[in-house]
Amino acid sequence: MILVKISETNDVIWPGPDNYDYDPKRVKAEEDWDRKISSVPVHAVCNGFVDNIVTSETHRSFSCRRCYMRVTFPREIETFAQLKKHFAQFNPE
Ligand SMILES: [Zn+2]
Repeated sequence: MILVKISETNDVIWPGPDNYDYDPKRVKAEEDWDRKISSVPVHAVCNGFVDNIVTSETHRSFSCRRCYMRVTFPREIETFAQLKKHFAQFNPE
């Protein structure tokens, strides 16, 4: 399962059900880290949907609709693989 820790306080996001057409069987089948980050990943534990918004000329931000977590990252990051690499300090192999 694709899970990426994006903060030192253990916030984790996953791609969210929209990427799998709400078919639970596909959640296990697909481990495609090169998939693009959807507009609405899910904030694990909180279970809020996470908006993925361009917030400056250089950066995007994840903003949780439920708990208001906000995490900023470079705008050129498009895939979960790139996101995990960017936050490598929180995602040791
Ligand atoms: Zn949240």
